[in-house]
Amino acid sequence: MPLRIAVVGAGFSGAVVAREFAESGNHVEVFEVRGHVAGNCHTQRHDSGVMVHVYGPHIFHTQHEEVWNYVQRFGTFKPYRHRVRAMVGNKAYQMPMNLGLINAFFGTSMDPAQAERFVADRTDSSITNPVSFEEQALTLVGRELYEAFFAGYTRKQWGVDPRELPASILARLPLRFTDDDSYFNHPYQGIPEHGYTPIVEAILDHPNVTVHLSTRCSRAELQSYDHAFWSGPIDAYFNFEHGRLAYRTLDFEPEVVAGDFQGCPVVNYCDAEVPYTRITEHKHFAPWETHSSSVIYREFSRLCGDADTPYYPVRLVKEKAQLLEYVRLARAETGVTFLGRLGTYRYLDMDVTIHEALKTARAVQAALAAASPVPAFVVDPLG
Ligand code: UDP
Repeated sequence: MPLRIAVVGAGFSGAVVAREFAESGNHVEVFEVRGHVAGNCHTQRHDSGVMVHVYGPHIFHTQHEEVWNYVQRFGTFKPYRHRVRAMVGNKAYQMPMNLGLINAFFGTSMDPAQAERFVADRTDSSITNPVSFEEQALTLVGRELYEAFFAGYTRKQWGVDPRELPASILARLPLRFTDDDSYFNHPYQGIPEHGYTPIVEAILDHPNVTVHLSTRCSRAELQSYDHAFWSGPIDAYFNFEHGRLAYRTLDFEPEVVAGDFQGCPVVNYCDAEVPYTRITEHKHFAPWETHSSSVIYREFSRLCGDADTPYYPVRLVKEKAQLLEYVRLARAETGVTFLGRLGTYRYLDMDVTIHEALKTARAVQAALAAASPVPAFVVDPLG
């Protein structure tokens, strides 16, 4: 007997669960408040012909072969290696931190072993259990590199002192004692040939899936379905009854320039005095294309207001306490499962989102088939 399933949100989370249920013969309705699918991964061709990452840079990278194989089913991914430069003062460095950056910054010509010892001598060995972003940086790279490359950028990006942020944010960035300047370590990396939006459209393109764009769906409206998935903000589901969970949002200042502006996709501006965090030059995300002009975005980070697009969950002590309240409410609710960046209030990369959505869809299908209680979360948002 086919089930009637509702899915709120048409980003990767919503699209993947919708597809899984549709492929097992169920009828799925997807509700998306925006006028397009793909959430913050949405891409769009600019008048100049350049493919623009409308909500900022998105590079697909994963260690999960299953996720890599999954996305290939829905479009071609072109080989892509992400490279980033970082400006400190008026000098440009390769990011992430590698042998080239260390030698350029300290004016040395060390080999890998010398550089490793040199950096180790600068780290703070009195910190045995780094908890904050700052402590993590001081134990890993020492004060000079931390102050130059991380402290200012991180304050601009997160709006708080790095002593208040968790160490996990820094763990996103590699530290290497070689000249490898690839931004990510993952074995599978690429960018969709025609952007992310056609990939998500293809995931949703199934006879058992109906997508309603520009359509809000409330908790009450979900009651009539056999089961619902909520990948929108968890606080919005509960009408913000414990207050709004804080996010950082981004503002982009676009400019069209002739030729090549910076020669690479992303340049980070690490100094606190520069008001933007980075400049993205979109045509470099598609090195297989040729464009005579270029679209650049200067990126500014600020606290997300009620009408803004949420990007990065803040997740400090106050928000974690609030999240706990929402998790309690969600666990007391029946007939709905929360997932994704907004549904679980976590800083997730695209591949993790897909991996978790596949896992969530399978666990919920198994529970429904066994007539057992369906979990509110398949992945613990507090874990
Ligand atoms: N970061 C930094 N300086 C840099 C790049 C990153 O301090 O030049 C810190 C900053 O706190 C940022 C985090 O590392 O939020 C993660 O960086 P990533 O490039 O992964 O951020 P995303 O692309 O997800 O915004």
